[in-house]
Amino acid sequence: MSSIYQFTLKQLENELLQLHQKPFRAKQIYEWLYEKNVYDFNQMTNIAKALRETLAATFSTDLLSIEDKQVSTDGTIKYLLKLDDGGLIETVLMIHPYGRSLCVTSQLGCNMGCRFCASGLLKKQRNLASHELMRQVLTVAQDTGERISHVVIMGTGEPFDNYDEVMNFVHTINEPKGLAIGARHITVSTCGLVEGIRRLEDESLQINLAISLHASNDEVRNELMPINKAYPMDRLREAMAHYIKATNRRVTLEYILLKDVNDDVKYARQLAHYLRGLNAYVNLIPYNAVNELGYSKTSDEKIQQFKDELLRLHINCTLRKEHGSDIDGACGQLRAKRSGGEGR
Ligand code: SAH
Repeated sequence: MSSIYQFTLKQLENELLQLHQKPFRAKQIYEWLYEKNVYDFNQMTNIAKALRETLAATFSTDLLSIEDKQVSTDGTIKYLLKLDDGGLIETVLMIHPYGRSLCVTSQLGCNMGCRFCASGLLKKQRNLASHELMRQVLTVAQDTGERISHVVIMGTGEPFDNYDEVMNFVHTINEPKGLAIGARHITVSTCGLVEGIRRLEDESLQINLAISLHASNDEVRNELMPINKAYPMDRLREAMAHYIKATNRRVTLEYILLKDVNDDVKYARQLAHYLRGLNAYVNLIPYNAVNELGYSKTSDEKIQQFKDELLRLHINCTLRKEHGSDIDGACGQLRAKRSGGEGR
């Protein structure tokens, strides 16, 4: 049975037209699902019984099942969720002063092969459908009883390798009659698939774009992120410049500091040079060590030096606060452990 959470409001209106129903029914259904958190057609009392029965026979309202849950001392909750086909994914809830942010998974496994990342320990089995992204949000909201105010598409997977489903999800959570998560509260993070950046330009959406850079030159980036061979840094820079100009939005560059790999201050200088003239800011990320992969975290002192050098060169930058470092560290680790970590 197909999931009711796969539809944007417009798409649901069309579905209802096919069932010979007026489009306003779609808004009513949206209100029940996304405002009133009622996930059972039978309880949608302003909808006629016959239609409720048809809906229940046509669409599933199932959320995802919670297989495991780890709660950190800082309030972060890491969920291991099970998809209908048995696939396991991670979803992480982070508590911030400004709200509750959910980090969602976009693919079952990942093929980008970044050397430092636990997600790539399991190769991509398939893309997630938009309703599977939506059900991550609803499952966690229901479990905690609190509204999710921010969504970051930064879990396992490369969102631009699953562009259509991810964008369908973005439009659905952004819908004012639905969850109404503001575009500026939604972030999509990519390893730098240039076509995806181009496509995002045309969406006329104000969501945040984050790009995983992690290096200041092609030599180091080729080593860390094989995708750089397909989209080297000059092409990536061109795509960013184009995006910034077309959308008038700033982009975020993520830079994980890896001990003795990319953390020397000379790389901060190179990075500043690369970013000169771009409306971008750098988010420095302390590495969450993954045992099997052989990289380690840069010392706090060196991180500070790197940051100071960027600031000295007038590059905006912030240091990402670590969340849930006491609960199975890096993204993808919980899942890799459960699934036996095969397929590397
Ligand atoms: N494929 C997308 C989104 C998923 S990864 C992308 O590459 O952006 C989300 C972010 O987490 C990326 O910046 C990624 O490089 C980073 N990341 C992966 N493993 C990490 C680890 N062990 N410690 C810290 N950040 C990590």
